[in-house]
Amino acid sequence: MPEPVFQRLALIGIGLIGSSVARIARQRGDLAREVVVTARTQKTLDRVKELGFADRIEADPGRAVAGADCVMLCAPVGAFADLAAAIAPHLAPGSVLTDVGSTKQSVIRDVGPLVPEGVHFVPAHPVAGTEYSGPDSGFTTLFEGRWALLTPPPGTDPDAIERIAELWRRCGSMVQIMEPAHHDRVLAIVSHLPHLIAFTICGTADDLADESRQEVLRFAASGFRDFTRIAASDPVMWRDIFLNNREALLEMLARFMEDAQAMSRAVRWGDAGYIEDMVERGRKIRRSLIELKQA
Ligand code: NAP
Repeated sequence: MPEPVFQRLALIGIGLIGSSVARIARQRGDLAREVVVTARTQKTLDRVKELGFADRIEADPGRAVAGADCVMLCAPVGAFADLAAAIAPHLAPGSVLTDVGSTKQSVIRDVGPLVPEGVHFVPAHPVAGTEYSGPDSGFTTLFEGRWALLTPPPGTDPDAIERIAELWRRCGSMVQIMEPAHHDRVLAIVSHLPHLIAFTICGTADDLADESRQEVLRFAASGFRDFTRIAASDPVMWRDIFLNNREALLEMLARFMEDAQAMSRAVRWGDAGYIEDMVERGRKIRRSLIELKQA
């Protein structure tokens, strides 16, 4: 077995992402020698104890990070500023502070200024997930073949970046370094806008008169069902993502609404060619995803 990347890994928040990392650490043994876990509620901490993938459980985030050479924020991004303020005085000199948040400019804005001198800050985002949340939902293959995007601020210690990259490679991910603003724009189109559309279409269906709503549920397999899977995601996490990637999301939404308007015009005026072209482009994108093994 290779040397563990870290001696002590502290996970702040232990839902889908944090508990997947903890399970991998337990299974492989070479992410860190010891995994310390904290969360917000006693209920979650009790459950983590039962699940048995943590070496130590701490109710207080300050105690959880003390002596850790890697600290990973795995809570919703809206909680990061308060969490960073709470742990900052307890971070060990030379340790690496990283995160898994779905937005990156906001994390750099909220956490960056609170990182003490001598602590390396390597923001990261594993682009992998499901609609489930909580410590029971994690699994060891979640990150396999998926991207982990790292957005270190200029001047970050290359060794700290490499250690976080190696941690994600050992989780099965492919690693890429990205500018935070670019990350937020790309994620707005591939993840945040599709979620916004899924939540909205479910709301639209739910607003229908009782009788039609029944029909929506009965015949959901005709397309609606795929939206409901995405729409089943955690409300707090998605509230925080939308509010913390506001600009990029609004820009992509504006572009989408223009294109939807063009499609609506084609339908109204019977522009069969336009409609066929759009459907053909969709099929091409799906085929490319299958070829890239990202479907
Ligand atoms: P999750 O399953 O909902 O778990 C969130 C965890 O954070 C829970 O353990 C929760 O503790 C804890 N938490 C919440 N508020 C907290 C606070 N104020 N202080 C301390 N702990 C707090 O979430 P997740 O899906 O793992 O997502 C975690 C992060 O990963 C988010 O930033 C998200 O943007 C990012 N991400 C998610 C996905 C995805 O598909 N789910 C993919 C990539 C990245 P309690 O249980 O005690 O409340």
